[in-house]
Amino acid sequence: MSEVREREKVVIVGSGPAGWTAAIYAARAQLEPFVFEGAGSRTMIPGGQLMFTTEVENFPGFKNGIQGQELMMEMREQALRFGTRSVWEDIVEVDFSTYPFLLRSSGGKEVRADTVIVATGANARWLGVPGEERLAQSGGGVSACAVCDGALPAFRDKVLAVVGGGDSAMEDALYLTKFAREVLIIHRRDEFRASKIMAERALAHPKIRVLWNKVVTEVLGDEYITGLRLKDTVTGEESEVEVGGLFVAIGHTPNTAFLNGQLELNEQGYIVTPVPWRTVTSVPGVFAAGDVMDDYYRQAVTAAGTGCMAALDAERWLAHGGPEETYGTTGEPVVAEAGTEASEGS
Ligand code: NAP
Repeated sequence: MSEVREREKVVIVGSGPAGWTAAIYAARAQLEPFVFEGAGSRTMIPGGQLMFTTEVENFPGFKNGIQGQELMMEMREQALRFGTRSVWEDIVEVDFSTYPFLLRSSGGKEVRADTVIVATGANARWLGVPGEERLAQSGGGVSACAVCDGALPAFRDKVLAVVGGGDSAMEDALYLTKFAREVLIIHRRDEFRASKIMAERALAHPKIRVLWNKVVTEVLGDEYITGLRLKDTVTGEESEVEVGGLFVAIGHTPNTAFLNGQLELNEQGYIVTPVPWRTVTSVPGVFAAGDVMDDYYRQAVTAAGTGCMAALDAERWLAHGGPEETYGTTGEPVVAEAGTEASEGS
């Protein structure tokens, strides 16, 4: 753990694949980044969502797969090797109306930053029922990411359950049909929220069966999931169903509350990056990377990619004049002439 200086060139908030990749690039560019890794909570720990994953088989470069925690430790060590400094604290308050930007941490630290990279990720929502957290953390067949875990051998030829009625649930269910004997979609109402085309595709699939008007009240199994206890939301009737895997697909919550409205967010609370293929946010000098700005791909490798982009964007922004600069609609830096407002595209 390191001491933060009064003023830093780059402060990175978050320590998932996006945060550490941004740190690796910023450190190698001699910007001496400081990372607020997070203080840790029941649903999020330093290292991000991969810390809750067991085997990661789709991160390029590891032909035999790698444990999620090990992958994050490697990224962290790589960033520290190039001089990144860090602390296990959250950023709890920001002031982006002043420059250098002002940030306050959960440990009472106050830091001024020339640039900020927000990489705080998004938390998968969980059901919060008995058995779920225990089996998710022990690799006992409970997951919130079908694309990450669905192809693992443990799920082959099993009956797998997907909870949710949105596009994610449809997509996950369809994806899981490649490996499962049968996929049960468990939804709390009698109609899907998902887009018509996705819902129809799922409903037409011969391996998919829907259990309408049902909620999961308990995940059963000691070391590995064996079944689910269900309750009918209309009749109140309780039942049990045998499954060999549970995939929770009830949405994500981006970790943007600490921004307190100072960056533009979309309706779901994700940070808006208005220029295609750039990580600039509504505040010049503040960049966003990873799941906190991406509600679409949500993969470790895409998060790492946008982390790299954010560090390069920050480096270029500083090199082109920092606060004297703004962005044109193409994302190219536009430097204001002394005494004039910077204008787009000029
Ligand atoms: P979502 O649209 O918010 O759907 C969440 C689903 O989970 C809803 O059906 C909801 O039920 C259910 N749910 C929420 N809390 C629950 C609980 N505690 N217990 C049981 N069920 C619960 O989330 P999403 O599916 O992740 O999609 C998020 C956004 O990404 C959407 O805009 C979606 O279109 C987009 N997306 C697009 C694609 C694609 O185009 N390929 C793929 C994935 C996601 P209710 O319906 O009863 O509220």
